[in-house]
Amino acid sequence: MPSPTVVWKIDPGHPSPEILAEAAARLLRGELVAFPTETVYGLGANAFDAEAVRRIFEAKQRPFDDPLIVHIAKVEDVQMVATDFPAMAARLASLFWPGPLTLLLPRHAALPGEVTSGLDTVAVRIPSHPVALGLLGACGVPIAAPSANRFGHTSPTSAAHVLEDLDGAVEVILDGGPTPVGIESTVVDVRPTPAVILRPGGVTREQLEAVIGPMRYAEPGERQAASPGRLPRHYAPRAELILCPGDTAQTIAASIDDHARRLAASGRPPGVLAVSEVHRELRSSLGPVFDLGGQDDLLGIARRLFLGLRTLEAASVEVILSHLMPAHGLGLAVNDRLRRAAHPPRE
Ligand code: AMP
Ligand code: MG
Repeated sequence: MPSPTVVWKIDPGHPSPEILAEAAARLLRGELVAFPTETVYGLGANAFDAEAVRRIFEAKQRPFDDPLIVHIAKVEDVQMVATDFPAMAARLASLFWPGPLTLLLPRHAALPGEVTSGLDTVAVRIPSHPVALGLLGACGVPIAAPSANRFGHTSPTSAAHVLEDLDGAVEVILDGGPTPVGIESTVVDVRPTPAVILRPGGVTREQLEAVIGPMRYAEPGERQAASPGRLPRHYAPRAELILCPGDTAQTIAASIDDHARRLAASGRPPGVLAVSEVHRELRSSLGPVFDLGGQDDLLGIARRLFLGLRTLEAASVEVILSHLMPAHGLGLAVNDRLRRAAHPPRE
């Protein structure tokens, strides 16, 4: 029988060694520990414990064909989980680790097949959050950890979000406050030429290309084959999400107003998730609003995106109206999340 979920507060900057040691002991006993990383909260298990890894999939109700990212404490630990570390991958690691970059490497046979969903590659990163690093150091084994949410739901950027989705399904939640980056890591495969971005994330294409030259985004079909878990619908709140078109704050606001009026007339006042510039242009104030901050502050928008979706979901609206962000830098990763969250559910 799984034990009830306990939530332990932990200082995000200077995590208590005693709390980390206790959480590490739980992990090494085969229990699940949710912890903050700089991207989102992860649901961690000892990556070498196949039974514990299976429990991650059960807790999240995640299909077994959706592989997990393996977190390591230091670059030398790559050899515990991968058989090779190509020069280009090592170069990126030296510049972006610890940080929100995940690299595909050839999988080590010692790693249970459950972690990689039977693929011959493993996705690896070193997180930069002091709690994540402290936990990895304290347990001495790589930690397999996907985002700590029910499969398909909006990713968690606070311990409260983890509890909402996984109460009773995870033994320990380390509560280190809100996560600073707010969206997941960038997943990169450097083996093809040019190297491929399988998932846009916290490290931008521009940052990566400045180091290794031109890259490309995986095509949707290709991405599905290479990264099997990346379903078109993901990150989705319970409410329906509609992305309203427009090139400027004025035209986006006009489109939101138009949708909002029609929804209100049919008795379904929507929530609005938009940047400040758009909020200022809105004529209708019909339901709850969440301000993502200024449109040029893409870091702030990424940090607040999932909180905004969850806040409006908690306000029990049936529909959330939002819009795409500027299509550069972190805006591309934010737009990837928004498009998937807005994708209609499969029949
Ligand atoms: P999550 O940890 O929930 O953000 O999801 C991790 C994602 O990383 C998966 O859904 C895949 O898209 C990707 N991933 C993990 N392992 C692999 C792998 N071996 N090959 C390709 N993509 C992977
Ligand atoms: Mg996820």
